[in-house]
Amino acid sequence: MTRDPYCIAGPAVISFSGGRTSGYMLKHILDAHGGALPDDVAVVFANTGKERPETLDFVQECGARWNVQITWVEYDWDEPHRTRIVSHNGAARNGEPFEALIDRKGFAPNPRLRFCTSFLKRDRIDSYARYWLGWTSWSSVLGLRADEPKRVHRQRSCSGRRRTGATVQLPLADAHVTERDVLDWWADQPFDLALKSHEGNCDLCFLKARWKIEAIMRDRPDLARWWIAQEAKPGKSSAKGHCPDMRLFRIDREPYAALADQVARQGVLALSDPASEIDWEREDCVRTD
Ligand code: SF4
Repeated sequence: MTRDPYCIAGPAVISFSGGRTSGYMLKHILDAHGGALPDDVAVVFANTGKERPETLDFVQECGARWNVQITWVEYDWDEPHRTRIVSHNGAARNGEPFEALIDRKGFAPNPRLRFCTSFLKRDRIDSYARYWLGWTSWSSVLGLRADEPKRVHRQRSCSGRRRTGATVQLPLADAHVTERDVLDWWADQPFDLALKSHEGNCDLCFLKARWKIEAIMRDRPDLARWWIAQEAKPGKSSAKGHCPDMRLFRIDREPYAALADQVARQGVLALSDPASEIDWEREDCVRTD
């Protein structure tokens, strides 16, 4: 008999990113278990502080409507295991955990050094499993779909994960779920995430394609401020001297200040061609959407 991919054997941590895909996954796992998770299956949401408030509200609403406990975690260097347990009310909304990480590192993450994903998300969720739940090995249940074969392959072959005690389960990929399936399902639900697909994750994540950044900046120019402020900080000094590029999230396109300026000048004109640039976001931020 074929195993139901949504029947999760514990101990396991379900990573809930606050996106539609992982929401779909969580509900299908709940349904496969008769509406309530086994005691040794936990759900964790890692808040970077740069999530949109709509995402935080969606996480809260999923927990309340589906009657499932979702533990919220944030990066905090001064807390045991660098992890703070928070709630919807107390969650950071102004990028505090992310900014604290950048300040501590002395430089911004970039597409080659995406330490924000590991420090703000993966390590916090793993810390929760190891130190709060006391597990030494567990399954990490991620919402990667069948139409994301590169990400699926990378997660399945990623030996680095095994060091942490977690092995990966990908129920959506196993169930051959695609983005279309997810969107169709949400269209029938009584509630939804109040964001367009390109608006999820950290609000102006540097992995987003340029057209997404521009579209978001057009709607919400205020969001650029935080990213501009991070790039305005002094870069890290090292034995080799000061490296100004380390201040920037991307060196292959303009800094956020210049992007914001261009968007402000060009108003509602179509800016970048959506097909002209690789969108790294879905490819590279582990456990998002
Ligand atoms: S969404 Fe982007 S900025 Fe946020 S943690 Fe992931 S890679 Fe970093």
